[in-house]
Amino acid sequence: MKIKLNENYKNLKESYLFSEVAKRVKAYSAEHPEAKIIRLGIGDVTLPLTASVIEAMHKATDEMGVQATFRGYAPEHGYDFIREAVAKYYLERTGVKLELDEIFVGDGAKSDIANITDLFGDNEIMLADPVYPVYMDSNLMRGRKVTLLPANEANGFLPMPPAEKKEGVIVYLCSPGNPTGAVYSAEQLSEWVKYANETGSLIIFDSAYEAYVSDGSPRSIFEIEGSRTCAIEICSLSKTAGFTGTRCGWTIIPLELEEDGRSLAKMWERRQSTKFNGVPYVVQRAAEAAISEAGRKESAESIAYYMENAKVLASVMREKGISFTGGINSPYIWLKCPGGMGSWEFFDYLLTKFGIVGTPGVGFGAEGEGYFRLTAFGSHEATLEAAERLRKGL
Ligand code: PLP
Repeated sequence: MKIKLNENYKNLKESYLFSEVAKRVKAYSAEHPEAKIIRLGIGDVTLPLTASVIEAMHKATDEMGVQATFRGYAPEHGYDFIREAVAKYYLERTGVKLELDEIFVGDGAKSDIANITDLFGDNEIMLADPVYPVYMDSNLMRGRKVTLLPANEANGFLPMPPAEKKEGVIVYLCSPGNPTGAVYSAEQLSEWVKYANETGSLIIFDSAYEAYVSDGSPRSIFEIEGSRTCAIEICSLSKTAGFTGTRCGWTIIPLELEEDGRSLAKMWERRQSTKFNGVPYVVQRAAEAAISEAGRKESAESIAYYMENAKVLASVMREKGISFTGGINSPYIWLKCPGGMGSWEFFDYLLTKFGIVGTPGVGFGAEGEGYFRLTAFGSHEATLEAAERLRKGL
């Protein structure tokens, strides 16, 4: 072949975190076939879709089988009914008022997070370290310079704006955060919004875990004054309503966001209508049901189930004097490996001594070394069993 390839792909680090975890677990299981391994490393939900969602999907599926109600291509930005449902969801849950033209329904947060990079030129990118890897990789693929902001014990795993005022930077914020579970307060987000407005920078706010916020912390960046002139928000129903396999989310781009007289919302519309053909009708109806009043009640029960697991794990950490964040507004517990162990050392220790699998923090960035992520997405039974094992021996 004589084609030129995207050289930026050479700058991507091999993503070996989950394959290495799987390899070590497989090797251990082969040596100890009797071991009952408990997986607390998964970032995927495990509870099924709820009754309202399933009912809406059945109904929409039936509509698709009748000529009078059959639907073909959906609008790229989503049908009006789902845009209206999202606007209502924001208004009722956060008091944030959105125009329908600001709401773009898509197939989940990962694609929108990665694809939004299409809109921008050669800007510097600022990211927390450790962080959800898609922010980094999608920008490396475009050859952008990435500056890391350490998220560590000193700043409560919530990096704040740097002292140096950098102009025109794109900052990714995730709250509640993956992997650390830390959540920004309104005051902290206000500082970021101030920084962005003063420097002509843009915040891309990932609110994939907003449904886990329980202490009054902001669920949306648009709860913060001044954010409409400097922020885009990307959210998803994956962790809110078990849509990891069903795929639906949205991106909010305020109409005020303009650069050089060009509207970012219009550019995104243009981008999506060229490279995306909309979320399936059945899924949009499912999403509408998920954020309806009944759907919200049901998903609140699923979230309460997960958060009960988080409580169990958090109580073991407290008993053992292990410092951690998360577990309150987040399904993740981000703990400091005891005895000064490194992330992989602690992984092996947990696996071989307790038969428990988690995720080494260093897999999310260099600053994650010496930390470890446990998740609350397992079953109660498995989580209680894991807690019992840790209580006895940790
Ligand atoms: N953002 C964060 C912080 C995540 O942890 C995840 C998934 O784990 C996503 C986005 C992607 O979610 P989705 O399933 O909507 O693509």
